[in-house]
Amino acid sequence: EQQYQESLYLINQFARDFYQEQLFETDRGKSVGLSYFKRRGFREEVIRKFGLGYAPAGTDKFTLTAVQKGYEAESLKKLGLTSQYGRDFFRDRVMFAIHNLSGKVIGFGGRILAQDPKAPKYINTPETDIYNKSKVLYGAFFAKKAIRKADECILVEGYTDVVSLHQAGVENVVASSGTSLTVGQIGLIKRYTENVKILYDGDKAGLKAAMRGLGLVLEQGLNVKIVVLPDGEDPDSYVQQLGAEAFRTYIDQQAKDFIMFQAGLLQEEAAGDPVRKSKLIREIVASISKIPDPIKRALYVRECARVMEVSEELLVGEANKAVTSRM
Ligand code: ATP
Ligand code: MN
Ligand code: MN
Ligand code: MN
Repeated sequence: EQQYQESLYLINQFARDFYQEQLFETDRGKSVGLSYFKRRGFREEVIRKFGLGYAPAGTDKFTLTAVQKGYEAESLKKLGLTSQYGRDFFRDRVMFAIHNLSGKVIGFGGRILAQDPKAPKYINTPETDIYNKSKVLYGAFFAKKAIRKADECILVEGYTDVVSLHQAGVENVVASSGTSLTVGQIGLIKRYTENVKILYDGDKAGLKAAMRGLGLVLEQGLNVKIVVLPDGEDPDSYVQQLGAEAFRTYIDQQAKDFIMFQAGLLQEEAAGDPVRKSKLIREIVASISKIPDPIKRALYVRECARVMEVSEELLVGEANKAVTSRM
């Protein structure tokens, strides 16, 4: 079993090296892949550190090379690198190697080069014996030391956000890769810190995704701050635009405790609209009642009552109802 897993890691490592070599050493890789990364502001150092690469188009070069080197076609298929029909799974895409916590390559994400409404922007390794999407956070291997040191984990949506922030010196960052957080992923974070700062894309989808994941994060006892980015920006685009210093200042200044953020929304959005206001109060109460620590819960009730200009008793009553109904 152990040995079987090791053999799969070795194949993925071979694939990572192959894609990297295509990126740096072939004409097409350089003119298409490397220039793509460079255009996006990624420097060679970070490209190498994260094991970025290029999967060639057309000719099933990866599969042919791997088989020629003696790797079994069956294993290549098991790892999702080769399709059932023996074709390369990743073609003409820039590649992101995905590592586990000890730095072994467990899978890949591949991004299309040109926009194409008919093809998915990213494709990822399917579930395999060593890749379980719901237990992986992209970048965790490179972030874990910094997360411990900062006692905080920055959570972003995408591969490129992780790479860009790293390059800018913000290293305590991991990506959920576009899906909402799972208990397994939250467990990974909790090994290193209880504090999470969410930096999702500054668009409707981003805010929605951030909100969706939150209930679970609160339930698991993590403290959550949220940073809202300007409309249309994501952490990658924004750090590239502002530069490292100004970006850090921005997130330090904008980070709001999540529950107080909700309470603030209420003051702005629902002033003078009792129906809307009562709905938002229920949402906040729902968030507060997810917090396992009763002392923290009580402190939030007091703070929120003040910000929302409602009586503390009202919130206590609602929160108790919500907690009891869960038991
Ligand atoms: P880029 O800057 O290259 O456009 P991004 O990371 O900003 O990429 P988003 O559209 O914000 O891309 O998506 C966030 C993340 O969601 C991606 O990094 C990827 O992990 C995942 N994702 C996006 N589109 C798809 C897709 N079509 N299939 C699977 N995963 C996807
Ligand atoms: Mn987005
Ligand atoms: Mn982006
Ligand atoms: Mn994005």
